[in-house]
Amino acid sequence: MTIDFCTAAVHAGYDRAANARAATVPIYASAAFDMESAEHGDALSAGTAEGFSYSRVANPTVDALERRIAALEGGVAAVAVASGMAAVSFALLCAAEGGGRIISPTNLYGASVDAMESFFPAFGIHTDFVADINDLAQVEARIGPDTRAIYAETVANPSTDVTDVDALADLAHRHGIPLIVDNTVPTPYLFRPIEHGADIVVHSTTKGITGHGNAVGGVVVDAGRFDWTNGRFPQFTTPELVVSDERAGIEHSFASRYGNEAFIRRVRIKYLRTFGAVPSPFNAYLSLVGLETLPQRVARQAASAQRIAAHLLDVPHVTRVNHSALGLTGQRDLVRRDFPQGVGQILSFTVDGDDSNVRRILDGVRLFSYIPNIGDARSLIVDPARITHREVPAAYRLAAGVTDNLIRLSIGLEDPDDLIADLDQAIAGAY
Ligand SMILES: *Cc1c(COP(=O)(O)O)cnc(C)c1O
Repeated sequence: MTIDFCTAAVHAGYDRAANARAATVPIYASAAFDMESAEHGDALSAGTAEGFSYSRVANPTVDALERRIAALEGGVAAVAVASGMAAVSFALLCAAEGGGRIISPTNLYGASVDAMESFFPAFGIHTDFVADINDLAQVEARIGPDTRAIYAETVANPSTDVTDVDALADLAHRHGIPLIVDNTVPTPYLFRPIEHGADIVVHSTTKGITGHGNAVGGVVVDAGRFDWTNGRFPQFTTPELVVSDERAGIEHSFASRYGNEAFIRRVRIKYLRTFGAVPSPFNAYLSLVGLETLPQRVARQAASAQRIAAHLLDVPHVTRVNHSALGLTGQRDLVRRDFPQGVGQILSFTVDGDDSNVRRILDGVRLFSYIPNIGDARSLIVDPARITHREVPAAYRLAAGVTDNLIRLSIGLEDPDDLIADLDQAIAGAY
């Protein structure tokens, strides 16, 4: 039976019969689990039996979240981690580990650009940045023997420019390279990258998925389709003790042991187990509760964002509005094809005047909160150039439209008329 997205958001991944018939997923506040018998303990440690032994590797509350998000994204499995940056880092390192290169645009989340530009190189992983990820000729020209992944955000923040995932996935696959995408802004409700050819999907669940600004988290989802044995990825085909059985004389690589789950198993068994960015069962619970209303929240927020963006076009002192669902950019046809229900709750706009006008708007809003987050039930406002994109080199920042007179909004669940009235008074009062 294939079930509807809204149904899966409430039910997927949770077996009530195995949990004292509790209505909501219980919070398993337990660091470790009874292994029952010597025989079962041996099988659990060998990975031949399914179950729980230690919460750095797996926990039942976290497991329910992983299964639910995998179902909503259409992946074979997921690994939940302690933050979106852990998800981005684990996915990229797992693909490019051992001297690989990544191709990426520059209009990414600030900490992602900073990691790829100035931190991953210290681990021997380099990024070839392109100005426009939808310029396939430019992307193809950067593909070399060491390229291990193409990476992009499905909807960029704060521009809301969208990535043509179908075209990029085709190009990547022609060269035996996986496409990894960050799907945080639209959430799987508005866009499911795996249905468009993406191989690995990452999220900051801190944002729309949890949806109430109350828990930092992340997740990596595996489509289970990419062939990691094609010769470019020795980390999946080299035998490793952790997946072998030395006593029985059985040698395995991640690919030979786990087949189409090789990538996601490696993220768990190497990255989560080693770097230990484990989500707490309590945060996983908050994300599960948030997911139950994901469709209703995101549908309303995307509609309100579109309405507010359209309104801002006519407000004095507003010089430009960025919200690709308005259909005012060259991406109009692509947005209509892939994002018929909107691009998300983000929009941004520029104003005339100088820094002091921007500061007066930030200080003049009453309903909007001055908070560097997105996807909250509350509406949020921020000045990206000084706050969220501060660590991005100026050239990349300006190319992404993050100028000093740019203001970003994340639209919450309030009445859109109240939000419009608040923006109108704050902007009028700033001049
Ligand atoms: C917030 C965000 C991240 C990082 O997530 P954290 O949960 O803050 O670590 C990564 N990508 C995008 C698009 C984000 O918005």
